[in-house]
Amino acid sequence: MLKRMLVSGRLPGALLFTGEEGIGKKLFALEVARALNCRSPKDHEACGVCPSCVRIAKLNYPQREDAEEWTQIIWTDHPDVGLVVAPKRVLRVEQMRQIEKEANFRPFEGKARVFLIDEADKLNDASANALLKVLEEPPKTSHLILITARPAMLLPTILSRCQMIRFSPLTPDEIESHLVKTEKVDTKTARLRARAAGGSMGRALSGDLVTFTSQRKAMLKVLNALAISDDRAQLLRSAEQLTEAQYKEEFEERLDVLETLIRDAWMLSLGVQSNQVVNEDLLSELNEISKNIDPSRAADWILQIEDLREQLIVNVNRRVTTDALFLVMAGDVPALKRPKIR
Ligand SMILES: [Zn+2]
Repeated sequence: MLKRMLVSGRLPGALLFTGEEGIGKKLFALEVARALNCRSPKDHEACGVCPSCVRIAKLNYPQREDAEEWTQIIWTDHPDVGLVVAPKRVLRVEQMRQIEKEANFRPFEGKARVFLIDEADKLNDASANALLKVLEEPPKTSHLILITARPAMLLPTILSRCQMIRFSPLTPDEIESHLVKTEKVDTKTARLRARAAGGSMGRALSGDLVTFTSQRKAMLKVLNALAISDDRAQLLRSAEQLTEAQYKEEFEERLDVLETLIRDAWMLSLGVQSNQVVNEDLLSELNEISKNIDPSRAADWILQIEDLREQLIVNVNRRVTTDALFLVMAGDVPALKRPKIR
């Protein structure tokens, strides 16, 4: 789809890349920037070796933790391609103003200026509004690529101005083949890692599957309690565990894991092939769960989790909210806020 846009010279000014963490959305966005600026493109794709391609591949992340530096545009070695990330939990108004200013310049060197906005779900109302100005009338030679694993968190006004491109989670076979062919991992290890990576190449490559495995075990318990045993005590124990201080950094990852498990069970209940399931190594457990849920319930669960994420931005008490989430998912209490359908 992107290739067609590049060929026709009609790449939209605002793109939104969505899909799981760690499947290459940002790398792909840089690849688009390279294709636009490559000095000797091959069939509209970046050559990968010309000075433009080489420099766009290099992002100059600040060396220090200093929030001030992280609030600036992080440029690549190419003067027309840069990225912004959320310095803490929020993308700031000043970052969007910088992008607006920079997007109005003609390219200094290449053919197009490209700005990546990573974790676009971390825009708050103020910064989203600041961004709207550029999204409305981006100059012809500038492109914005918003990147997020959670498009449901974006304001409808932002969503409606971007062309969304969805990246599917990778299947275990795809991950395995990459590990063996490109990373030269031995077949046995590759198979194991690919099956346990939950559809994310980033996770398969990092090799840190111990943490992930224990996260998945904990979240599978939640799903079992919801779908099969209907065990409230287990749910509250899980909520307590999930919100323990030692897992503070892992909280959102754990929610991600829970969502992939729900998606898998949901897909199975709709009758998809088992090799399309991300957590293929848990097939028998997931099959069991899928027999006990109907698809609309699974869809509701995902909306309810997204709803919790939204509340987390305003710093609510995690423990209380997570308790509430699980009880809402179990059907004990009606959702306080109707899940947004966007
Ligand atoms: Zn090139």
